[in-house]
Amino acid sequence: MASVCDVCFRRCRLDEGRRGFCGARVCAGGHVVPLSRGCFSSVSLDPIEKKPLRHFMAGSRILSVGSFGCNMRCPFCQNSSISWSDEAMERFEECRQGEAWSPERLAELARATVPRGNIGVAFTYNEPLVNWEYVRDAARLLHAMGLKCVLVTNGCAGERILDELDGLVDAMNIDLKSFSASCYRRFLGGDLDMVRNFIARAAGICHVEITTLIVPKMNDSVEEMRQMAAWIADLADRGGRSLNGSVPYHVTRFFPCFRLADRPATDVETVRRLARVAGEYLKHVYAGNC
Ligand code: SF4
Repeated sequence: MASVCDVCFRRCRLDEGRRGFCGARVCAGGHVVPLSRGCFSSVSLDPIEKKPLRHFMAGSRILSVGSFGCNMRCPFCQNSSISWSDEAMERFEECRQGEAWSPERLAELARATVPRGNIGVAFTYNEPLVNWEYVRDAARLLHAMGLKCVLVTNGCAGERILDELDGLVDAMNIDLKSFSASCYRRFLGGDLDMVRNFIARAAGICHVEITTLIVPKMNDSVEEMRQMAAWIADLADRGGRSLNGSVPYHVTRFFPCFRLADRPATDVETVRRLARVAGEYLKHVYAGNC
């Protein structure tokens, strides 16, 4: 009997043994479950500012782990070798043949690296919410050790997933890749409404910073930046209190990559100009990769 995955807008309907669109979830025993329980593509101790998070435990470092798979299809993916390319799925299969990291093993490594400045674990590089059950289990252990859990996510997940993680995630950096529903749907393989709902809800349960990668001819107009910045400025916390333009916003520069390898890098002055526009609405705006 087929089962439906409710993690994201795609709502993949899967027969027994079949994988979802993201490549990271499978129907097993009549339930849709993550394929990867601790199958990591990379493990690295990074500065927290690299996530990027500029207003959360500044100056610290965080153990950053990535797995495989993604539910979006950005043609400029900066991590295509682990997200949705053929290479990513091949590497995923190889990784699954090896030894998995249990949440306990990961939490122990996080604790062991505290003397090196580590504050916890960041789930990043690929889309972590296609494997949210592992994030939940690891976060419980990390919190019991007094450590932090951070997500770097495309925000393309339903509110039920945030309910499951409420109280377990300390900070997120969430992509807002465009303010055009058709761009999200046709060019990025995502859903703008789902992302906006996710951001709005997440801003009420943990520290949130937002990132927009400025891609030439995709989202580099002043008008679109005004729409995004004004919307971010209007975000409220769980109690309905306005966050008053205080959500940190990262406006970053695109470099040719993956299927947009022939598109020029975003002009530095364009990124800086759009950051200045965002600064008319928001208190903390950072131009990145410039
Ligand atoms: S998370 Fe993956 S399996 Fe679930 S609905 Fe989204 S793409 Fe499909």
